Amino acid sequence: MKLSDLDLILEKAQEAFVAMNAYALRRRVALMNTIADEIEALGPELIQTAMAESNLPEARLNGEKARTVFQWRSYADALGKGYSLDASIDTANPQRAVPKPDIRKTNVGLGPVAVFGASNFPFAFSTAGGDTASAIAAGCPVVVKAHPGHPKTSQIMADAISRGVAKSGFPEGTFAHIFTDTIEEAQALVAHPVIKAVGFTGSNRGGLALVEVANKRKEPIPVFAEMGSINPVFLLPGKLGTAGAELAKQYAGSLTLGVGQFCTNPGLLITEDSPAVDGFIEALNQEIVNILPAPMLNAGIAVAYRGNREKVIGQSGVELVAVAAAEAAEGQGAATVATVSGVDFLINDELQTEVFGPFALIVKCRNADEMLAVTEKLHGQLTATLLATSDDLASHRELVAAIQNKCGRIIFNNFPTGVEVCKSMHHGGPFPSSSNSQFTSVGPDAIKRFTRPLSFQNWPDEFLPDELKNANPLGIWRTVDNEITRERL
Ligand code: NAP
Repeated sequence: MKLSDLDLILEKAQEAFVAMNAYALRRRVALMNTIADEIEALGPELIQTAMAESNLPEARLNGEKARTVFQWRSYADALGKGYSLDASIDTANPQRAVPKPDIRKTNVGLGPVAVFGASNFPFAFSTAGGDTASAIAAGCPVVVKAHPGHPKTSQIMADAISRGVAKSGFPEGTFAHIFTDTIEEAQALVAHPVIKAVGFTGSNRGGLALVEVANKRKEPIPVFAEMGSINPVFLLPGKLGTAGAELAKQYAGSLTLGVGQFCTNPGLLITEDSPAVDGFIEALNQEIVNILPAPMLNAGIAVAYRGNREKVIGQSGVELVAVAAAEAAEGQGAATVATVSGVDFLINDELQTEVFGPFALIVKCRNADEMLAVTEKLHGQLTATLLATSDDLASHRELVAAIQNKCGRIIFNNFPTGVEVCKSMHHGGPFPSSSNSQFTSVGPDAIKRFTRPLSFQNWPDEFLPDELKNANPLGIWRTVDNEITRERL
């Protein structure tokens, strides 16, 4: 890509931004459903291409395709229902000592958005993924920087989106897809003055590099970066006593799902040391040795997995306790578990490195106080999981409060892999798991990342956006004089 091409692409994106914001909201809803239809209609070529480029199995990719279509449709539905608009009206009160004006507020699009997808979700967090769907729902044209790990897959998805844009009569600049050859070219997209926000899913290194570029601009812009996480699991004594072997089986399943290549992979387990913990580790070992090594997304990720795993295993006090029995071929990842004491964990930040793949570190604490200290030392996480009984929760209230301060989603007796696409999902935890913990990248609330509030004061009804008109022509829920209602004024 030449930088002069970028200027032209972004000129068209800006034109599209102006044009699409003059359209009725229902046209944007229709656009999103048409794009969903186009993706749904993609045949076996999509799946076969993605299998060849990502090593992911057919069943997983079919599921991910369905999820991607669902994201477009459910965000369209949420847009039509006005969720992302947060429409509110405070009616005038001319009788007040200082007369109160009529004030109405809605959310409007920020402007063209740059999207960077991740390698591990070639559909759902890439070209046609949640960032693109939510930015378009917000009324923002999108320029995607294609992921080099699955370029042909990305192109098939980009063509489907472009067909949807053309069929819906939206300007060509509503969506663009670029391939970059260098980091500088990719960063030029973020630095370009037309771009008003960035959606990123990927590594900490990549996300932070883009945050830096965005902050150095003459006009700094928000970067919504969903980055790596080690997703701690807290195994509490009561639960361990009642279901240790079964939990070991479930934990091994979650840890090795998709060769551990999920941002929600539970790579850290924290517990109070006891004979029951030794039994749990032995049961985990029985599971791990039988898990066959499998191909990782690409050669680079497999090399990084081995390197990061060796780095953690090489730290002071770390002891290897379980490795898949079958030898891993080149490009494959072998499930691995190591342990460390709470004391060693507390003094070594390297032990919080994300080992992207099927690796877990078990932290054995001497007592509940040390477990609390370890929790307070943790970096921000996308998720945290409690394997606990109700009695455990009641006797560890301070610990539970400390865990809540560290994560965006807290899970009870379940596992974090599997991120439901729904309104109540929050996928975005405290830094460094994401660059802005106030927003989610999964579920319809993701749309709000790419909007800003705009208040209208004493504005004539016929010139207000539909969501703020007296008659409520969209039939949406609004906050009118502090009451939630669908009534017309
Ligand atoms: P990545 O290496 O960070 O790449 C993501 C995208 O950003 C690619 O298009 C990459 O392009 C670009 N990029 C990376 N560094 C850049 C830089 N310095 N300047 C400009 N562009 C840059 O991530 P990945 O390997 O694809 O994904 C694996 C990681 O993503 C894991 O750490 C995983 O935990 C995380 N992840 C997080 C979530 C989440 O929701 N939080 C979801 C999935 C994955 P180039 O390769 O061309 O540089």
